[in-house]
Amino acid sequence: MIDTHSHIYLPTFDDDRAEVHDRAAEAGVEAIFMPAIDFDSITQMEKLHHPEIMFYKMAGVHPCDVKEDLPKDFTEQLFGFCDSDDFYGVGESGLDYYWSTDLVEQQKESFRIHCKVAKQTGKPIIIHNRESTVDMLNIIEEEQDGSLKGIWHCFNGSLEEGKRALDLGLHLGIGGVATFKNAGVDKTVARLPLEKMVLETDAPYLAPTPKRGKRNEPAFMKYTAQKLAGIFGVSLKEIDIATTKTAKQLFGLNSNDIQ
Ligand SMILES: [Zn+2]
Repeated sequence: MIDTHSHIYLPTFDDDRAEVHDRAAEAGVEAIFMPAIDFDSITQMEKLHHPEIMFYKMAGVHPCDVKEDLPKDFTEQLFGFCDSDDFYGVGESGLDYYWSTDLVEQQKESFRIHCKVAKQTGKPIIIHNRESTVDMLNIIEEEQDGSLKGIWHCFNGSLEEGKRALDLGLHLGIGGVATFKNAGVDKTVARLPLEKMVLETDAPYLAPTPKRGKRNEPAFMKYTAQKLAGIFGVSLKEIDIATTKTAKQLFGLNSNDIQ
């Protein structure tokens, strides 16, 4: 399985990172894609190694970390990272109106820059979206010229929003929220195509049931995968095969190491 969204480089894993990685490998996680929160995240990502897990870096600035003044050379900096063969995606970017709406215009500008870099580099944009779905999808629509691809990470939209996202060329990242009782995400997911979905944890956040409320880690992705198997009435193996294939295509991986 591929965890397409994990902040495994954060300090919350410093004390037991080796065990966390071992448990991930044991649970069948063969690759972890790491979205950045800011450019400092990248230094932390570079320290990670495990004999059975591939780690893939991505570069970007989280919408909650966008500052009042974007650096003048922000586009060049972001492009500099993302254009390198060392980086597999652009993000995470997007919009977040839940924590604060003070810097909405800056968030939008930053999101548009991430979209442009994603198009220029041919790499997927990783989209964070919280209480901002209409604006997020409108920006994707404006930016979509046929070459933009990306993941609506931690998908929790309505059926209409999900369909619109797919029409706009996005994929959906399915994480712990899909396992939450009463969230209703499972019912929406059931009516959308499995081949447009990838698995993710968003570790250390949003642990799936039955680990809800705990620090999330890649090994817990098996619960989300099991939930997805139940939703689509297929085996866990089929979920693994389908989501792994989609993730490999999306991120342009040729590696035969990941099945
Ligand atoms: Zn994230």
